Amino acid sequence: MISVDKVSKFYGRSAAVEGLDFTIEEGECIGFLGLNGAGKTTTLRLLSCLSLPTSGRITIGGFDAEESPHEIRKLIGYLPDTPPLYPEMRVAEFLRFAGQLRRMSRGEVAKRLPEVLERAGLVEVQDQTIETLSHGYKQRVGIAQAIIHRPALLILDEPIQGLDPVQIIEMRELIRGLRGEHTILLSSHILSEVERTCDRLLMLREGRIVGMGSEEELLSQLSARASADKGARVSHLVKVEVRGAEDAVRAALAIDGLEIVELTASRGVTFAQVRAAEDPRGAIARRVVEADLELLTLARTSSSLEDAFVQMSGEDA
Ligand code: ATP
Repeated sequence: MISVDKVSKFYGRSAAVEGLDFTIEEGECIGFLGLNGAGKTTTLRLLSCLSLPTSGRITIGGFDAEESPHEIRKLIGYLPDTPPLYPEMRVAEFLRFAGQLRRMSRGEVAKRLPEVLERAGLVEVQDQTIETLSHGYKQRVGIAQAIIHRPALLILDEPIQGLDPVQIIEMRELIRGLRGEHTILLSSHILSEVERTCDRLLMLREGRIVGMGSEEELLSQLSARASADKGARVSHLVKVEVRGAEDAVRAALAIDGLEIVELTASRGVTFAQVRAAEDPRGAIARRVVEADLELLTLARTSSSLEDAFVQMSGEDA
């Protein structure tokens, strides 16, 4: 549905993004991940037709971004990093206005509004002025204005920026609820967020793509790169929980190339965090079963991908 072909955007002589090349299928939820200045906002602005590439080609829903930006804008709902809200307007009034800006008729807006208020969790505050809302609710209004016209593609730039932990959980649920109805692109510099919400991640570093795929694919891309470059270090962090005494578990985990980072026992259950250059889960499962112990948990910890992110973002990051 979205095709980005060798796209670069230069400001003067410096590139904000360079040589972007990827496709996104209808219905996918893609996370754009990168440190500040990596080029996330620039990429989202290019995909929203708010900015044109210096070179390369973008097509969305069969339309070329340069030739048919108006057609593409009809397909898109966009929440910029600072939501375009009118503080003095009431929530429902603002959303009606947003619908009319999207060329919906009064009748269409009246029919759609209750659904959007429900979807975004705004029913109770629909008559409040926007300036009286918390930051979390303002973000919801930002999302509501972006989906009022049922766009095929929803673009969210740092939607959880500045939210407190409870608001983050609510926003995550809201975004998850929108999957299926829209193709979603969202940017964040918070790895755990995109990892939890998105099907695929696209990692940017200094305007270039350094990795794209699922968590598993990104880890194996990094492993491949590490073995090509002997100086690089890649590690798989794994959490193990075994019913059995500490000594027996320690003995079972004595596997070549496996480092025990942490080992604690409580009430007959031993917990360990281990690290290895190759994915150690198969070997651990075998050794635990061979030692006649009961394996309760064997999982990668999210810091495996965090390691990958830091390495792909550059060691100095
Ligand atoms: P952040 O999370 O800090 O917004 P980002 O990943 O979204 O970062 P971009 O805002 O896309 O990054 O910026 C990428 C690079 O392009 C940065 O070096 C930035 O300074 C530069 N840049 C972005 N917009 C402009 C502009 N209008 N004029 C000049 N340089 C720009």
